[in-house]
Amino acid sequence: MKRIAFISVHGCPMALLGARSAGGMNVYVRALAQALGRMGFAMDIFTRCHGSGEPLINPLDEHTRVIHIEAGPQDAPKEDLFGYIPAFLHGVQAFVQGSGLRYDLLHSHYWLSGWVGQTLAQEWRAPHVTTFHTLAEIKTRARVGEAEATPRSATERQVIATSDRVIVSTAHEGVALQQLYGAPAGKMRVVPGGVDLDLFHPGSQRAARDQLGLNRHHTILYVGRLDPIKGLEVLMHTLPQLETCKDVQLLVVGGSQEDAEYQRLKQLSSQLGLAERIEFLGSQQHESLPSYYQAADVCVVPSYYESFGLVALEAMACGTPVVASRVPGLQTIMRDNRSGYLVPWHCPDAFADRLEVLLSNDALRHSMGQQARKMAEAMGWDITAQGVAQVYAEMGVEAQE
Ligand code: UDP
Repeated sequence: MKRIAFISVHGCPMALLGARSAGGMNVYVRALAQALGRMGFAMDIFTRCHGSGEPLINPLDEHTRVIHIEAGPQDAPKEDLFGYIPAFLHGVQAFVQGSGLRYDLLHSHYWLSGWVGQTLAQEWRAPHVTTFHTLAEIKTRARVGEAEATPRSATERQVIATSDRVIVSTAHEGVALQQLYGAPAGKMRVVPGGVDLDLFHPGSQRAARDQLGLNRHHTILYVGRLDPIKGLEVLMHTLPQLETCKDVQLLVVGGSQEDAEYQRLKQLSSQLGLAERIEFLGSQQHESLPSYYQAADVCVVPSYYESFGLVALEAMACGTPVVASRVPGLQTIMRDNRSGYLVPWHCPDAFADRLEVLLSNDALRHSMGQQARKMAEAMGWDITAQGVAQVYAEMGVEAQE
């Protein structure tokens, strides 16, 4: 059986999602690893130890394990992790030496992991595939004025140069990699992310609302980390503009009270006179999210940048229409006028306009929700895994039949 090492320094598949920096990448790493495991690969995910008393080896299922490596303080913020990646690298080397295992291929997630992966690939003489998830040069263009960690761009360039293949979620990201980083087109492969179609499925809106104790006429849902790049502020400025739909409640799933951004947004909701209409629920277990999507009339994804946008896809899989920013990642998942609406980013007016249309028309919401589910059905994780396995096969690493 071919053995694959996933390197995911800060994206532990076992972390609580929506809080701090844990989000889509953690979901992606877990779901893709398990889907590759189902195809016949033996999967080990190496990630940083982030809580006390975590076992070294954590089986997720019979083919997939999470290996926690001690590297730096457990609660170190993502911004500090570059300083701890040499320790992480040594931890992986020690584990592999001690276990006597041999890996046939490395797949790194995010630039920090790419740094680790490129060194291990050379040492193990194994092919190296990298998925960046987000890239500094694209991110800083989306949020002008926000700085990224200094070594990030340079490290990304180096990792692109040394990787055998770079997997991107969208064709747009592939073009950006060529234009902004001079990445050779021959190395790039486009493989979109996926959604767990068993977990995320349509259900009774009434039952979901009763379960969550919701009693307003209309419910808008936001799910995600509370990072300025996610644009929640735009959505908050949209609410007062909803004229025909006054009895609307916004549920915010994600974030944690200890985060400065959570406090800032909560304060903003009071300043806008919306404290009664916006409920900050903090991060919720991934498995409990289907009820939120099913209960909502519409899910809003107002991001300035999404390399893919799992939340939009999860909402669609639950048959909930989405109003999202017209940014490349979300344009790949959504179809304007079919699974919801794509609107110009950073424009509360445009969001308000589309929300009014949807909230005031039950039949339209219903039919868009049905189309959304249909579209999501073509995007299960097994399809993503098949695409990724094809990339591995190009390097002579194939799952056993
Ligand atoms: N998520 C979750 N609980 C929360 C908030 C978010 O499980 O409280 C999950 C959500 O279901 C999605 C992921 O975190 O799978 C966020 O992914 P997305 O691609 O939308 O955003 P990213 O975090 O990658 O920027």
